[in-house]
Amino acid sequence: MGQQLYYDNYSPVGDILVVAICFLIFILIGTSYVTKTRSFAVYVCLVVFLTFAGLSGISHHFLYSQVTDGDYTWVYILRILYHAFLFSNLLLYVVYIVELQHLEKDKKIPVMIISSLIYVMVIVVDIVTTISGKGFKLNKHGNAVSAINVFLYGYLAFIVVISFLMIVFRNRLYKQVMMGFYGTMVVAFLVLVIQGKYGQSSFTTATFTFPVISMLYIVHSNPYDIELGAINISAMEDMVRYNYERKNELIFMSLYMPDYDVEGAVFPKEMQKTIRDIAGHYFRGAVLFQVNNGHVILMTRKDKNPNFENIVNKTLNAFDKEYEKYKLDYKIVFGESIEEISRKNEYISFIRNIHRNMEMNSIHMVDFEDVEAFNKYELILSELDDIYKKHDLNDPRVMAYCQPVYNIKKQKYDTAEALMRLKLDDIGLVFPDQFIPLAEENGYIHVLTEIILSKTCAEIKHLLGDGYEVKRISINVSVLEMRDDKFTEDITNIINNSGIPEYKVAIEITESQTDNDFLVMKHIIDELKDKGVKFYLDDFGTGYSNMERIMELPFDIIKFDRSLVLASDTDERAEKMVGSLANMFSELNYSVLYEGVENEMDEKRCINMSASYLQGYKYSRPIPIIELSKFFSKQENNHE
Ligand code: C2E
Ligand code: CA
Ligand code: CA
Repeated sequence: MGQQLYYDNYSPVGDILVVAICFLIFILIGTSYVTKTRSFAVYVCLVVFLTFAGLSGISHHFLYSQVTDGDYTWVYILRILYHAFLFSNLLLYVVYIVELQHLEKDKKIPVMIISSLIYVMVIVVDIVTTISGKGFKLNKHGNAVSAINVFLYGYLAFIVVISFLMIVFRNRLYKQVMMGFYGTMVVAFLVLVIQGKYGQSSFTTATFTFPVISMLYIVHSNPYDIELGAINISAMEDMVRYNYERKNELIFMSLYMPDYDVEGAVFPKEMQKTIRDIAGHYFRGAVLFQVNNGHVILMTRKDKNPNFENIVNKTLNAFDKEYEKYKLDYKIVFGESIEEISRKNEYISFIRNIHRNMEMNSIHMVDFEDVEAFNKYELILSELDDIYKKHDLNDPRVMAYCQPVYNIKKQKYDTAEALMRLKLDDIGLVFPDQFIPLAEENGYIHVLTEIILSKTCAEIKHLLGDGYEVKRISINVSVLEMRDDKFTEDITNIINNSGIPEYKVAIEITESQTDNDFLVMKHIIDELKDKGVKFYLDDFGTGYSNMERIMELPFDIIKFDRSLVLASDTDERAEKMVGSLANMFSELNYSVLYEGVENEMDEKRCINMSASYLQGYKYSRPIPIIELSKFFSKQENNHE
């Protein structure tokens, strides 16, 4: 290396930059929500060591410029420290990468042993060669006389280990993430080459800041939605886990606005401001998470907000003011963290399940009943999953109940509606409102339909065999399952396998909401009607009916919902209205069935309003399907 003034190729500007960047990183960590995965602890150590490296770099240079008597002892010491901090960084990079890549023990241990050996060796060699005068040495004029460049060898050894990890185990991480890290290495390497060209070493430490910046950006950062101040929901699991491990209690507040729960929707500007204010000013240390467009959850530590209840009241007041302006539907849920839900880290499904049982435009404070309901929900879901996987048409958990339907003209019961119940070990009998929506949301509904159909067909066969007159039994089907191409085939297979004619089965469906579902329904009805299956329009009068569409579908029976039966009881006008609707349908050759006939008054009115069939508690509550024979009568002759 010859003799040159040490000052010539090293200036502290690079290290000053390093310290500044490290401070900047600490500011960014403090003001954003950083995902606190296990590698984050390593990350913080990295930045701390890097700060020290920068500081020791600056101070060793400062001391060097102060020496007048040729005694460079402190310069040597600080220089060794400076190197030690940089090597600590390199060692931590290895730990960090191994952590991110989730290396198995048998791969992790050798890598860590080798890296630790390199680490200890280079530091020892650096000290020994400096003391013995074989390594870095300054003569009394301050000229550097360097024989062995220990730092360079140690540095290269670490680069080999790091490159090995990044190349051999590259598939352990998402490709884009690896590209980011490769890019970082290339940039660092270029800076080292360029500074070498200028005979410089001032930016060596600075190249160590590149990976630290990349890691923050790629791995730990969660960008804010600038308008709302919310961050991605994936960070919420991290926050829950982190605080659960440290036994910190959390409080949370969830706002759900279904109108905005569609793609591309954003809260109105003023609403955004209110949410921003609530999260930023009312609560201390709050983090706002965006579950989806219409759902945000605010979470913070309880000990930072001792007057939680006051804050909640203030928040609700602020929200009330917004509501006055916009009149948008909402559901608000708030409460404290619950051990069980935190442990399972399932706040989103927990809150969603609360929404399910909540009125629109209401506020709910979480209590233990919600946890019980949630546990029940999870149990039902896992049973449904099991029913789905087993796909056993005789599954005893799916129970066919039914309600006989009174035929007015014949003055007897000859049809019925099959209604589903679940019989689960830990819960007992579960009613449709508690599992049909779950089954629909999770794609389990079709299997349930198949099981009910199969059991219903078996009972029809049984009744017919015993000489009972069974015109048909209807089952309920969800539009969702009709979207499946195999729907028609599955239904006809089950009916055919049971050995009864198709016309003994009817399918009840409710009106579709979308054009697409309407087309799907039309297609299915046409196909199955050809084979003889009958169709009922269920729950007529509950939604917004589209008469034109109803007329396009060849229904056999229109089921007037109980709400129309009730409405017709209010005054004469209402009765006339329902009656003429029913009359219109019967003139168009549909049969009208009234649902929810509970007493004689209901019955009388319905008969006056063009009823062909009546169903309701007046005749029977839903009963297990095998009890149906109590209602049906034996056939007088063999013709229908
Ligand atoms: P739905 O199809 O409208 O069934 C009629 C519901 O009204 C039944 O409730 C029945 O028990 C009830 N009901 C019968 N008579 C009266 C009455 O006089 N007064 C009153 N207030 N209610 C009466 P359930 O069995 O709880 O079923 C609720 C809903 O669950 C059904 O409404 C249907 O939409 C759905 N569901 C039931 N079984 C199945 C099924 O196998 N598949 C599908 N996809 N949905 C089903
Ligand atoms: Ca029905
Ligand atoms: Ca109905």
